[in-house]
Amino acid sequence: MANNNRKVVLIGTGMVGMSFAYAALNQSVCDELVLIDLNDVRAKGEAMDLNHGLAFSNSSMKIYFGDYSDCSNANIAVICAGVAQKPGENRLELLQRNTKVFSSIVPRVVSSGFDGIFLVATNPVDIMTRVTYELSGFNAAKVIGTGTTLDTARLRYLLGQYFEIDPRHMHAYVIGEHGDSEFVPWSQAMMAVNPVLDMLEKYPDRYKMDDLDRISNDVRTAAYEIIKAKGSTYYGIGMAVCRIVRAIFNNENSVFTASVRLRGEYGLRNEVFIGNPCIINSGGANRILELSLTDEELEKFKNSYTILNESFHSIQI
Ligand code: NAD
Repeated sequence: MANNNRKVVLIGTGMVGMSFAYAALNQSVCDELVLIDLNDVRAKGEAMDLNHGLAFSNSSMKIYFGDYSDCSNANIAVICAGVAQKPGENRLELLQRNTKVFSSIVPRVVSSGFDGIFLVATNPVDIMTRVTYELSGFNAAKVIGTGTTLDTARLRYLLGQYFEIDPRHMHAYVIGEHGDSEFVPWSQAMMAVNPVLDMLEKYPDRYKMDDLDRISNDVRTAAYEIIKAKGSTYYGIGMAVCRIVRAIFNNENSVFTASVRLRGEYGLRNEVFIGNPCIINSGGANRILELSLTDEELEKFKNSYTILNESFHSIQI
């Protein structure tokens, strides 16, 4: 990836998209940021507003309202566009409407000549990432969803508080569907160099499985809590997108529980996009790290896989 002009196109300048854009400006993760939205009045206003903050940032980022022709030489296309659930609408109907939204976005990005990496945040993110893969015809390594990246960040934060350790030294992951069937494979969780399950055995008065169950439940229901309190969630996911963009531009080989297309891991077929630790670099999703799951954990993963596969097959692209 040519690194002298790091260009990102953001499609969908709603709350999530603009939280990413704001984080991107403050962290100076790219040199050029193009804003595209169906609501072009809003996208233009957002570009103006961000540009007025440039003087207070350490960035000389070029930010402008654009169109799909601007994707031709972009490195990354971040998709945060979507429609909100209507009252009385079920998840599947929402999924079908968001598939329609993506049908009006992805082919236009591709026909611009875009040859970069798609990064999808729109929900249900695992399925929308697979839709992007199908619509684009791109190599699967170049189509990434945010998956359970944010859930993993929430988990590490809560575990850091529980074990009184910097969350960056909690190596624990949320995997599977970004949604109700996601789970924490505790057999794989490490507190720095100590397996979390060993800590429970060693200090039974201090650390308990019930507490860990409560923490994983809090992670799973965090979005519902936030939505109940303030309508929607956006800062955390915006920063997660920003972090992945940085890992791509810096060719970091960093690990994220992104939504990636399986490549035969866990003996499962290669078609489903699902949250699993994956090494991300300038080529996109480089290597998928297969975990040594217990039988029970594997069943949970397969359950997520089946839900995602069935949901995908229930829509029309
Ligand atoms: P929002 O309604 O604020 O913004 C959506 C934007 O998409 C709007 O500006 C809208 O005009 C635009 N849009 C709709 N159709 C379009 C089209 N055809 N072409 C271009 N733009 C189009 O919504 P939001 O709060 O920003 O959420 C965006 C998505 O992110 C939702 O699907 C939400 O569920 C998802 N989300 C994901 C996570 C995660 O962890 N992956 C977390 C929070 C939210």
